[in-house]
Amino acid sequence: MLLVDPGVYIGAAADLNDTQALADANITHILSVDSVDPAPLTPAGDDVFRRKWVCVSDEATSDLLSHMNDCNLFLQEAVDGGGAVIVHCQAGRSRSATVVTAYLMRRHKLGFSEAYHRLKTVKQDVQVNSGFEEQLCLYEAMGCEVDFSSPLYKQYRLSKIAEKYPELQHVPRELFAVDPAHSSSSEVSYRCRKCRRTLFRDSSLLSHRVGEGAAAFGHKKFSNITGNVQCTSYFIEPVQWMESALLGVMDGQLLCPKCGSKLGSFRWCGDQCSCGRWVTPAFQLHRNRVDEIRKLNVQK
Ligand SMILES: [Zn+2]
Ligand SMILES: [Zn+2]
Repeated sequence: MLLVDPGVYIGAAADLNDTQALADANITHILSVDSVDPAPLTPAGDDVFRRKWVCVSDEATSDLLSHMNDCNLFLQEAVDGGGAVIVHCQAGRSRSATVVTAYLMRRHKLGFSEAYHRLKTVKQDVQVNSGFEEQLCLYEAMGCEVDFSSPLYKQYRLSKIAEKYPELQHVPRELFAVDPAHSSSSEVSYRCRKCRRTLFRDSSLLSHRVGEGAAAFGHKKFSNITGNVQCTSYFIEPVQWMESALLGVMDGQLLCPKCGSKLGSFRWCGDQCSCGRWVTPAFQLHRNRVDEIRKLNVQK
């Protein structure tokens, strides 16, 4: 195992066998980022370490980002308490390196590349997989704190589900936003233009960076077109009223749950916005089928 930052070591599963080295390094905390149950160090009850196990496999589709706040807290607790922590996976190259990089980013206010570079100067053979690299970039974009209610996180979570969607038997229920027709809120809401049924709220909007317009579609004949690029759809998180339409199919139409008029469409494998940007998965409602309703503050 190698010291990366004061009180923070990175290592492989085999490093846990060297109890003398752990004692010499004043290790108090062990964070296992592994898909196999980390073996107990000592006979049950005798374990002097505080331990945390994050069960993920080293695959690009694995979700480590959702655990990042908890992992950071665990590392912080060890360091602040005057102890030391070892973060390990099987080989000490990808999963543990991802967690340690995130820690360095937050601790020293570094971007992903700087933090990863700093780790590599200590441990040359680290190699976070492409999925984890994307997650660390997202972590940076979030200001090194995962905000589970942010559009960035919601879109990320949906994309992780979409990667596994064909094999999924069901979509996790918590992924669906509560149907705004069945609850009240002061948020901006969006209604069916035809029947005024409330469809979604502002917090369900998943904004994306505007793409490169016609050029992104690869149509040569549009290549001279410049000027304002418009998004003609709202991309949103799935809302409860969509549930029956979404299940078991890869794509389809989204109809108003009240009047049945066509509002938009969904594609689990993603779709291209009118601005050229790909959004995966895509749940889109046409802006010209939906009215934005702002609540007025009425003086009483
Ligand atoms: Zn767009
Ligand atoms: Zn309607």
